[in-house]
Amino acid sequence: MTGERQAAKQPRADRARIGIDLGGTKIEAVLLGARGEVLERRRIASPRGNYEATLDAVAELVSGLEAAFAASNAGGSARASVGVGIPGAISPATGLVKNANSTWLIGKPLDRDLERRLARPVRVANDANCFALSEAVDGAGAGAPVVFGVILGTGVGGGIAVEGRPLIGANAIAGEWGHNPLPWPLAGPRGGELAGHPCYCGREGCIETFLSGPALEADYRRATGQSRGATEIAAKADAGDAGADAALARYEERLARGLAHVINLLDPDVIVLGGGLSNIARLYESVPRLWGRFVFSDRVDTRLLPPVHGDSSGVRGAAWLWPLDESGS
Ligand SMILES: [Zn+2]
Repeated sequence: MTGERQAAKQPRADRARIGIDLGGTKIEAVLLGARGEVLERRRIASPRGNYEATLDAVAELVSGLEAAFAASNAGGSARASVGVGIPGAISPATGLVKNANSTWLIGKPLDRDLERRLARPVRVANDANCFALSEAVDGAGAGAPVVFGVILGTGVGGGIAVEGRPLIGANAIAGEWGHNPLPWPLAGPRGGELAGHPCYCGREGCIETFLSGPALEADYRRATGQSRGATEIAAKADAGDAGADAALARYEERLARGLAHVINLLDPDVIVLGGGLSNIARLYESVPRLWGRFVFSDRVDTRLLPPVHGDSSGVRGAAWLWPLDESGS
């Protein structure tokens, strides 16, 4: 990224950091102080389908946050570093956005356009990477060298932070685990897991088709004939409902297999769950009990943890794309 090349190397812990989470329906922005404390927050609707309006909206958020910071920090510098999380990635090969479900960003040089608008280096990263980074810097994985962040929501994504930095990768897809196949698939009626479910990516049997919220709901519906939301399924299981308990048990076993794959490959110190399904408390007990059978080790010391920053992790991680020892302003 352009910002990387221009980064000053001297410690700039005194500077404020702005993080922007550029989602499909809303844009969130946060201004963090030197110790990661939230000084200001903003949230606006995404200008869906309009790239120029998206650039304008980000520029407006940045100037608004800086004005608020200047007012509360009389005499201090109001200029902040800017990091942006997107539901996609900047292709290292072309410098253009790819894989974004905010399709109006696809094919655009988002980081360079924002750098021009804001007259400073801007770092842009995948939102799952921002989630992992946020939890690695001062969240559930604080102090852990390698953190894998998993988003279990409408879709399934993953991101990796190593020593407080996002791991981007040669193709900018490091951690994109949701479109790997579900490992050790089981046979069963109508082919069981081996039959797979079609995925929007064009393949079948992707982890996302088993572990997203809609996948849990579909699994419950197939087994019980009833349509219930993921939150309700978890609540029913807590209340002792056998069908809901069985659906969650299948979900946990699949998540254990999926994460065992990650542990074999990356061996992270901490795995943090995010997204709506990360609120299901029993996952943190049951999944580590189950994954040992699949991990290639005599013992597994990996910690599976809920997020500390919850829904704020995306926007906080975007701010932390400029770590304490680098200045982006
Ligand atoms: Zn897929």
